[in-house]
Amino acid sequence: MGKIDDATLKALKEKALSVRLGIIEALGIDHRGHLGGSMSCADIVTALYFYKMKHSAKSPDDPDRDRFIMSKGHSVLAQYAALAEAGYFGKDVLATTKSLGSVLQGHPERETPGVEANTGSLGQGFSMGVGMAIAGKLDKRDYHVYVIVGDGELAEGQIWEATMASNVYSLDNLTVIVDMNGIQAMGKTRDRYAIQNIPGRFAAFGWKTFEIDGHDLADIVGTLDKATAVKGAPTAVIARTVKGKGVTFAENSHDYHNNLLTPETREKAIASVMAM
Ligand SMILES: [Mg+2]
Repeated sequence: MGKIDDATLKALKEKALSVRLGIIEALGIDHRGHLGGSMSCADIVTALYFYKMKHSAKSPDDPDRDRFIMSKGHSVLAQYAALAEAGYFGKDVLATTKSLGSVLQGHPERETPGVEANTGSLGQGFSMGVGMAIAGKLDKRDYHVYVIVGDGELAEGQIWEATMASNVYSLDNLTVIVDMNGIQAMGKTRDRYAIQNIPGRFAAFGWKTFEIDGHDLADIVGTLDKATAVKGAPTAVIARTVKGKGVTFAENSHDYHNNLLTPETREKAIASVMAM
């Protein structure tokens, strides 16, 4: 536990590449979509779906499956890419994202195979994760709940209510991962609510916290293993990330928080991801 072998790491890197290409596929051409936030959590989503979580496309209703919630719902393209890669639906479905009648819409909905919660109203996904973790305790189920939140999302008051409740109920079956890319929809997080000392805030609410490089797959999986071994307290993984990671012209910018790719920039984006 806590360290993976080279073959596993290599396989995970290949999955992360597939997820990034899937994000670009789901975004399509000349359709606005959330490239930046999806790319920033792509490695974390990959580690969850292809290393850490107990789940199967063949039994999506298994009561003992681990739960994943994309609380920063606009970044669902990363989840769609992972779900397609894991066989919940065909990869050809990715190209239908946000079109009328598609099971893949702009924010997570439970109509989509493998999606556990409708999110996008920021803060709510975290609270739903708390509910699922409490339910797991009450039902004496051995599943773990994973929630990804954005750093901009931490400005929602509901986040801190959920943080308090998780401590009250000693939810050691809950891990929240903060995708700390420093950017939110309209600009840098430091120019908005400027939330300082994110690990310290979670720790002050009784959480066990970890800090990682959110693009280092070995670091991510090693830390997830440590987080799920913690007993008696919820765990928060604060992941330093780069918005748009992998698409160099979109990195560290809010310009691609919700933007389109032209045929030309799409080709550039694919080439950039392939060169990672
Ligand atoms: Mg952010």
